[in-house]
Amino acid sequence: MTVRAPAKVNLQLSVGPVRDDGYHDLVNVFHAVSLFDEVTATPADALSVTVDGPATVPTGPDNLAARAAALLAEHLGRRPDVALHIRKDIPVAGGMAGGSADAAAALLACDVLWEARLDRETLLELAARLGSDVPFALLGGTAVGLGRGERLTAVEVTGEFHWVFGYADGGLSTPAVYAECDRLRAAGEQDSVWPQVSDDLMAALKTGDAEALGRALHNDLQPAALSLRPSLRDALRAGRAAGALGALVSGSGPTCAFLAASLAHSAELAAALNESGRFAAVRPASGPVPGVTLL
Ligand code: ATP
Repeated sequence: MTVRAPAKVNLQLSVGPVRDDGYHDLVNVFHAVSLFDEVTATPADALSVTVDGPATVPTGPDNLAARAAALLAEHLGRRPDVALHIRKDIPVAGGMAGGSADAAAALLACDVLWEARLDRETLLELAARLGSDVPFALLGGTAVGLGRGERLTAVEVTGEFHWVFGYADGGLSTPAVYAECDRLRAAGEQDSVWPQVSDDLMAALKTGDAEALGRALHNDLQPAALSLRPSLRDALRAGRAAGALGALVSGSGPTCAFLAASLAHSAELAAALNESGRFAAVRPASGPVPGVTLL
């Protein structure tokens, strides 16, 4: 069974104050884009993971795809006797939820392989136990995520948006970026307000207005990502100078997302960003795309 899962970019990521349980209340507008990992599940004697991609991806029980298979097996009361092979195209620790995509893909692949065919609600519930971004990878499209990001409502979108993603050399740890966000706020360098869904963003998505979407993009984690990786400032500037309608750090970074006006513009933008020499790789993509899909 081979399942494809998309990367996400956060069109809005608003971070509320720290809760008693250490998490933050978020307003998260997820948007699935056409950069995909693939997970293949094959019957085997025991659970194993192999990865076609960067050596930084763990191959032991810590791999999120392995955790997904183990959780599903436990739920079904069976042995997790499956070999998972991950083909990675989503940048690792890049703020595009690649690990979560692999977890969602493994859930679906094993669900089909083991002929469990769980209903969507149950899969979403298992996904939420694996991580806040995993339910969205199952659903795809564009969705508002509340709570820790896992309570999802689909958002109406007209048409397609064209993006260019600038990958960085090396990743950023998501907990480290949240900790830096807390530090900046405690030092009075960043405000902490109760997060709300942006009406301007919802209107831009509904009408398919790329210019308005470019203006409405917002990421509360961006100051923290820039603080930890100052070179991202120039990377974002390079995109704006090349005519991007919007430029922001994707999630916890360090991947940068640039919104283009059209498909043709995304090719021009990608060429200009390649030329800038500020990125390890530059990838055009479109969104929204569906969530995990059996190939
Ligand atoms: P997010 O946007 O959800 O915060 P991210 O895109 O920044 O996440 P990931 O690529 O999902 O980061 O991975 C973060 C860490 O999780 C990696 O550094 C790696 O150690 C670990 N990890 C576990 N499983 C995987 C996987 N299948 N793919 C990538 N990383 C994984």
